[in-house]
Amino acid sequence: MGVHFTADHEAFREAARGVLEREVVPHAQEWEEAGTFPAHRLFKALGTAGLLGLEYDPAYGGQGADHSYTVILGEELGRMGCAGVAMAIAVQNDMATPSLHSHGTHELKQRYLAPALRGEMVAAIAVTEPDAGSDVAGLRTRAERDGDDWVINGSKLYITNGTQADWLCLLARTSAEGGYRGMSQIVFPAGNPGFSVSRTLRKLGNKCSDTAELSFTDARVPVANTIGEIGRGFQQQMTQFQNERMIAAYTAVGAMDRALSLTAGYLRDRQTFGRPLLSRQYVQFRLAELAAEVDTLRHYNYACAEAYIRGEDTTRFATIAKLKAGRLQREIADTCLQFHGGFGYMEESWVSRYFRDSRLLSIGGGSDEVMLQILARLDGYTGSGHAS
Ligand SMILES: Cc1cc2nc3c(=O)[nH]c(=O)nc-3n(C[C@H](O)[C@H](O)[C@H](O)COP(=O)(O)OP(=O)(O)OC[C@H]3O[C@@H](n4cnc5c(N)ncnc54)[C@H](O)[C@@H]3O)c2cc1C
Repeated sequence: MGVHFTADHEAFREAARGVLEREVVPHAQEWEEAGTFPAHRLFKALGTAGLLGLEYDPAYGGQGADHSYTVILGEELGRMGCAGVAMAIAVQNDMATPSLHSHGTHELKQRYLAPALRGEMVAAIAVTEPDAGSDVAGLRTRAERDGDDWVINGSKLYITNGTQADWLCLLARTSAEGGYRGMSQIVFPAGNPGFSVSRTLRKLGNKCSDTAELSFTDARVPVANTIGEIGRGFQQQMTQFQNERMIAAYTAVGAMDRALSLTAGYLRDRQTFGRPLLSRQYVQFRLAELAAEVDTLRHYNYACAEAYIRGEDTTRFATIAKLKAGRLQREIADTCLQFHGGFGYMEESWVSRYFRDSRLLSIGGGSDEVMLQILARLDGYTGSGHAS
């Protein structure tokens, strides 16, 4: 079994594309300029259309679909050309909720997962801190037990959906063990006292998605809000990162397809030295070569999805797909902008926004270098002479 796209998949692709073209595309520019988008309004529409929680248990409002539908939704999220909203949706579907779905209690899922899948609650994933990004084991936010509560102190940085979230999937230290030991994932409701948004951050790209610094000062949450086993948070988060990296690679393919197609359209019309730019062999070969690279990544993604559907560990697949997607998207964004000349440098052109937005993929969700570090370890390219 694997990713065999059927008529049902194509119907889903058409339906998803239709929803995104209706609910997101007409507003993208306005939301970019506003530096935010109405997450509750949009997510309600997406939830009603069944686009949140595709793979989740129908008992909580999920669609019970297999991962091949996530691949399609990812490609369509990239294709819609609004990377900030695509990222916010991916946070809701693939970054903040997988652990809760896999490890949460029935009560937690009813209270937080089901409304997130209906689009009535916005979720965020709160891992990164001012002094701990790539090195998640270095995080300092502490949750200390006081009776039946955790009392949380610390801060989180660069949190997507941070100003609009109703709850966070928070990773915090719940024991003094240090390193990757003694962390737990906790559902933290954003309305609880002691929590505040310290700053809304302005960014190079993905401007319509809200990104925030969050602060916890003696913020209380019931211990019952712990996702899964106390002390297993780091391991659960590492698994949750696999979903994040896979959706990032699927989305990139849709975005790159769109960029190449829009660029070819522009070059067909744009003339220099009395001929359309697209009649130049250099331009044709460059686009053809990049399209070949996108196709290679697309099929690598499908192989990754097949392995995931078979229930295999996709760490290596997800790591490579994320690394290659980040690098290829940078190359494609740069080439597309170059081929648009001065117009490509103008704020009004789609390609200038794409150029800015696409830079994030090599940084967020684990940088290229972190992907290489994981890969080097997996493949045994380490100083100790064996994989560690
Ligand atoms: C727009 C945006 C949205 C984000 N959303 C979220 C979110 O919703 N939730 C969340 O928890 N986090 C989020 N992040 C954080 C993101 O995951 C981190 O920025 C990322 O993991 C890198 O961490 P850092 O920024 O602290 O960089 P650092 O850890 O300081 O690393 C800086 C650079 O050093 C290099 N580097 C790092 N480690 C190594 C190494 N071992 N060897 C060689 N080079 C290395 C890399 O080039 C890296 O980019 C977001 C970030 C951005 C920019």
